[in-house]
Amino acid sequence: MAIQTILIYPDDCLRQVAAKVEDPKADSIKALVQDLADTMYDAPGVGLAAPQIGVSLRLAVTDTDWKNGRYEEAEGAQGVRNLKVWINPEFIWKSEEMASYEEGCLSIPEYYEEVSRPAVVRLRWQDLSGAFFEQDFEGFQAVALQHEFDHLDGKLFIDYISPLKRNMITRKLKKHFK
Ligand SMILES: [Zn+2]
Repeated sequence: MAIQTILIYPDDCLRQVAAKVEDPKADSIKALVQDLADTMYDAPGVGLAAPQIGVSLRLAVTDTDWKNGRYEEAEGAQGVRNLKVWINPEFIWKSEEMASYEEGCLSIPEYYEEVSRPAVVRLRWQDLSGAFFEQDFEGFQAVALQHEFDHLDGKLFIDYISPLKRNMITRKLKKHFK
């Protein structure tokens, strides 16, 4: 178990385009997934992307179930957590229909803003065995996945809000965390 430091915006690593994971089966990738999971549950958050702990690779973890109350019920009870690992994720289709949710980010603490994104997405990704999967996601899962995978392209949810609000958040976080 290794809880890592979560980088806070405007850290440069959060703005880089992450590199493809060449060998999902590598021990180093398994260790990275463990660190991401430990750090996400400790925060606690519903998702964490590798660039948020300073590793510029296309990999993220999510657990959107605890948001629905399962995580709290599972406190101390191993095995009920529903950790998902996403390696080299790629959206191959997004709906024209949009949906709005209030989003936050572990790298932008204490700020929450309404963001509009495609309501349904079709994702292709790999797991730790290197196998490929394809599935449609909607609702909160679609939001969480789009938010997390934006991190792999150096994008943040504040990029979707007005420049005025974004500049205010940037100024305040610079003051707090530098
Ligand atoms: Zn985030």
